Amino acid sequence: MTKNYTRDYWESVLSGLKPEGRHFIDGAHRAAATGETFTRIRPMDGKPGARLARGNAADVDAAVAAARAAFESGIWRKKDPLERKKIMLKWADLIRAHGDELAMLETLDVGKPVMASLTVDVRLCADGIQFYGEMIDKLYDEIAPTGPNARALVRKVPIGVVGAITPWNYPMIIDAWKLGPAIAAGNSVVLKPAEQSSLSAIRLAELAFEAGLPAGVLNVVTGYGEETGKPLALHMDVDMIAFTGSTEVGKLIMGYAAQSNVKRVALELGGKSPLVVFADADLDAAASAAAWGCFYNSGETCHASTRLLVERSVQDQLIAKIEAVTKSDIALKHPLDPSAQIGALIEEEHMKKVLGMIAAGEKEGARRAFGAEQVLSETGGYYISPGVFVDMTNDMSLARQEIFGPVLATIPFDSEEEALKIANDTIYGLAGAVFTKDMDRAHRFSEAIHAGTVWINTYDMSNFATPFGGFKQSGFGRDRSVHAIDKYCDYKTIWQQFG
Ligand code: NAP
Repeated sequence: MTKNYTRDYWESVLSGLKPEGRHFIDGAHRAAATGETFTRIRPMDGKPGARLARGNAADVDAAVAAARAAFESGIWRKKDPLERKKIMLKWADLIRAHGDELAMLETLDVGKPVMASLTVDVRLCADGIQFYGEMIDKLYDEIAPTGPNARALVRKVPIGVVGAITPWNYPMIIDAWKLGPAIAAGNSVVLKPAEQSSLSAIRLAELAFEAGLPAGVLNVVTGYGEETGKPLALHMDVDMIAFTGSTEVGKLIMGYAAQSNVKRVALELGGKSPLVVFADADLDAAASAAAWGCFYNSGETCHASTRLLVERSVQDQLIAKIEAVTKSDIALKHPLDPSAQIGALIEEEHMKKVLGMIAAGEKEGARRAFGAEQVLSETGGYYISPGVFVDMTNDMSLARQEIFGPVLATIPFDSEEEALKIANDTIYGLAGAVFTKDMDRAHRFSEAIHAGTVWINTYDMSNFATPFGGFKQSGFGRDRSVHAIDKYCDYKTIWQQFG
């Protein structure tokens, strides 16, 4: 029987919820070594939410020690691949079975609509764990070519203890992007979620343990970036940091790796992705893609299409269509309302920052076409309506800075050459798109945009088979796809001489 996801249903899920806020270390919950906690404020209504352990270096030490012990014991990495696969598949099933609860935890923490948390975030998290679970018994090593009296095995071996540091915008999905391949490859992990979004991470670790993942293989330490993330990245017994977050903190992570034990680093960082619309494009499709590409998740998406480059002759027509799509399809409502398409921003401070960037952009001459205002303030939560600025140039701050709010910067162009120059004139290179009916141009343009993913006549389509990550200051290393396993492995050569 399909469930009736009404507002009352979600209110009842919420009232039955008792979120766990302690670390998860070595298969058990643990308060912070200092006993300190911090309170998460709910973005949907500004009320106090869960209390979380405020971790520090001592908690990180405990989690790393548990991860190291599990790794060295071989309790996970040396287990029969078929058994490991079964455990990961069971974990994925448990995530699905606890989908409503996980969706509510995510919404409480980050303010996105609970139906989006359920149908997108929970689903993709479970799919991610399943994808890498299914790979475990299909990974082969190699035998390298040698002379007749030798045999050289090229083994792919797990790195050891992986520190995963993740952001708050798609917590469960990004956790799965790291945990799936890292654990499937045989590593142990210490996960440090963003301070704003720890609840789903703790629950994911509990469910992994329930599925049969041995104690110590997945540990979660909650707390602030400076107090937990930094000691994790500086730790001498951590072999790799897999980081997703801002370019600013990504640079710090590289520094910590260099200052400590030259640990490996993989970085998924910020973006300012161009969506380029030529006059010959299907403008309805382009408008829909531009609106959803920028405004989904309230613009808190690393690869959001935040720069709309449009051939000048169709700018007004396209903006009118984007306004119509936004107003008819992208409902901004309370996150527990099942018809909400977008919800609250992550916190008050962030909302004020976005409003400040909008005001600064207007001072520079960006012209507001519609939206980009604080709304639903009567809820006590942090909401900004989707908004579009037009007639901009690429040097304006709204076109250069990653806003992480529902703000679209429109820049008109007059030639393909100019469009390409503007598209690539950014420090980022995460994603991009081109809309045109001319397939020669689509091919030329998609090859020439410097970005990890380029879409043609669509936006944000993907699946687990495709790698995701950035060029330039959007980082390096890839999440998703079979290739993601590689970054959690080292090659080891075993040369045997005969005769
Ligand atoms: P952030 O401020 O860089 O934080 C990311 C993570 O790093 C959080 O867990 C944070 O902990 C931690 N952290 C902060 N300072 C640290 C330090 N000194 N040492 C170690 N860890 C530290 O990013 P965010 O605001 O959470 O997320 C938004 C950013 O993530 C945007 O720039 C977005 O583009 C990027 N992002 C990129 C991708 C991608 O795949 N390329 C995907 C999603 C998001 P605290 O929260 O406790 O500070």
